[in-house]
Amino acid sequence: MKRITFFNFSQQLILLLSVFFMACSTNASTEKDVYGNQVEEILSQMTLEEKVGQMMQLTIEAVTVPNSKEHQLDMDKLRKGIIDYGLGSILNTPQGEAQTKEYWYEMISKFQKMAIEETRLGIPLIYGVDAIHGVTYTDGATFFPQQLGQAATFNRSLIRKGAEVTAYETRASNIPWNFSPVLDMGRDPRWPRIWETFGEDVYLARELGREMVIGYEGDDISDSTKVAACAKHFLGYSIPWSGKDRTPAYIPERQLREYFLPTFESAIEAGVHTFMVNSGEINGIPVHGNHYLLTEVLKEELGFKGLVVTDWEDIVYLHTRHKIASTPKEAVKIAINAGIDMSMVPYNFDFADYLIALVNEGEVPMSRINDAVRRILWVKVKLGLFEKPNTHPDDYPLFGGEEFAKAAYTTAAESITLLKNEGSLLPLSKNAKVLVTGPNANLMRALNGGWSYSWQGHLADKYATEHNTIVEAMQAIAGQQNVKFVEGVSYLLDKNWDMDEAVNINEAVSAARNSDYIVLCLGENSYCEKPGDLEDLYLSANQELLAKELAKTGKPIILVLTQGRPRIISKIEKLAKSIVYAYLPGNYGGDALASILYGDENPSGRLPITYPRYPNSLVTYDHKYTEALSNDGSLYKSNFAPQFEFGHGLSYTQFSYSDLQLSKSSIGSNDALEISVQVKNTGDRMGKEAVLMYVSDLYASITPSVKRLRGFEKIELKAGETKQVKFTLNPAELAFVGHDLKWIAEAGAFTVAIADLQADFSLSETIVMKK
Ligand code: BGC
Repeated sequence: MKRITFFNFSQQLILLLSVFFMACSTNASTEKDVYGNQVEEILSQMTLEEKVGQMMQLTIEAVTVPNSKEHQLDMDKLRKGIIDYGLGSILNTPQGEAQTKEYWYEMISKFQKMAIEETRLGIPLIYGVDAIHGVTYTDGATFFPQQLGQAATFNRSLIRKGAEVTAYETRASNIPWNFSPVLDMGRDPRWPRIWETFGEDVYLARELGREMVIGYEGDDISDSTKVAACAKHFLGYSIPWSGKDRTPAYIPERQLREYFLPTFESAIEAGVHTFMVNSGEINGIPVHGNHYLLTEVLKEELGFKGLVVTDWEDIVYLHTRHKIASTPKEAVKIAINAGIDMSMVPYNFDFADYLIALVNEGEVPMSRINDAVRRILWVKVKLGLFEKPNTHPDDYPLFGGEEFAKAAYTTAAESITLLKNEGSLLPLSKNAKVLVTGPNANLMRALNGGWSYSWQGHLADKYATEHNTIVEAMQAIAGQQNVKFVEGVSYLLDKNWDMDEAVNINEAVSAARNSDYIVLCLGENSYCEKPGDLEDLYLSANQELLAKELAKTGKPIILVLTQGRPRIISKIEKLAKSIVYAYLPGNYGGDALASILYGDENPSGRLPITYPRYPNSLVTYDHKYTEALSNDGSLYKSNFAPQFEFGHGLSYTQFSYSDLQLSKSSIGSNDALEISVQVKNTGDRMGKEAVLMYVSDLYASITPSVKRLRGFEKIELKAGETKQVKFTLNPAELAFVGHDLKWIAEAGAFTVAIADLQADFSLSETIVMKK
């Protein structure tokens, strides 16, 4: 008979006792314990108007003169916001474009001076930006690969280092709050924000999300090289039914908890101070109005004590878009009562007027306002803004320097994923005659994607002139005489991001005839959020045409893909002997890619997503068995045949795996399974290898996934070298969310798989986890 154990009974007992003692003490002392004296003292002096002001966030464009040359401040609006309304926060960049760090210092210190010297209580503002792969809106900042590319490194330390650099450069811009990381699961390749995620795997995303939070925040966010991070977009944002941004999602709570909640839980464990809410709706309930998710799950169940900010304009959208509120005022009531602490309004002051009225009418309880303001003040106190409201660019000598450039280059080099390399075509000889062609070959936009100098990333070629495009980087390595560039297809840069035209395909074809190799740079132009919605996941017709025409020359094609999402290439895949996926590798991506093409770097990226072959087969690697049933009606063999599988990635050397060992054949609730494997570099050059460990639960009461990633380590091996890689598997990692929404690991048989090796073990007892 199966025995059932409650996983951490003693912890539960301690928790129950502490809840009992907390309930015996007064409310005020509990809040003081949680948020500290300073917060309680300020709060006790605040009027309702001042409290509501703290809950309001405006865009900087609401307080600057539209289209003014030097982004001139509109002093009337600024005074109205900061002094009359007691504004809590400002975000964004003026005129949607990057500024110098000196500009940021001057602008934000003016805001702080006004808030501190000209308001009754002198509460500093908290300024926030989206610095999601580097400080988007600061000229000269270091741009790393976008998150999807970072995930492809499978290297925790690179993710942490990147976040440390970004935190430093964000503070160098006098900005203490970063709306990053994106902890949404990238499980639908149609969604235009998939490149902002760590990909489709929950384990990978929660591990790397944790590293990113720690990199941004460290142990103490008052350290002036650290920022407050923002876990976003809570919850279930990334799989809208239609694949289009901000359209409805339908996610059963079991799936919500198993696939979408864990990254956010792990960010809370890592100490994240702020959360941003999903702009979409789930099962007909907009998340901005969802009391269950925002208050019962996030604040009560997960115990998140920091501030919860809306996404852009999302309160009023409850009225204008989602239609669950018949007036904008009702929208404010629904959102604040659901658990929103700060409203990214972002253009006017209506939010404050409505909220003050709602409190006076008894429609929003004062306790809710106090809870929200406590959280906001707490983050400001923790950031040290009361003692040090500004950070000066002169104190950040490493900004945009060599050390950071090297870190960004390394991350780009480790992210780039070699998907195919027939006959070891790559690396290229530096003396070979190469034609570089395609719309992405000479464009910084296509390397950086959105959130790069502007929201849509369309200004990258204006700002990143000192960085190399793919062509420039290849010419820097192999010389202009060996690397010829003919574009072939070009984006219509002044039109929609996804429009391109055939410009000189014939010229590209004749240049190809005179070359030894063709490096064909295809993919996507930059885009961001809703404007990035797409009707067709295949590569554009013009890009496919270019590939087909070039193939007629018989010259070997190396297909290089720089793109936010995996555009389907099945119609041209066979035409390319080698395929390299570079994701959106950032400003050092051209250099890293060229080094890989010429063999100065050995690729080690692995796909953090399944690369689909057809638009009607967008199935993730951790699918259920029946998602891959063959349609021949009789045989139950899998027809899961994506273009490239999750975790796929080649190297210029070879690795062999042997001696997979498990410490036990059976474990119980108090055991951990020790797993080890030998990895040998059997090729003739140094290489890095991400070792991936999967576990399959063979039979379960909820249909199991065919396999789930449960461990990864990136190692480096010299030619001929062998290393042992060890993993510890805790029973908690065998769990799934059961019928009753509780995590459960069921007794029974499991298989561990690493590369082509497998070993079995069993769990001797069923374990019900605490949550
Ligand atoms: C995006 C968020 C972003 C916010 C502020 C929104 O449109 O969805 O990810 O943080 O804008 O820029």
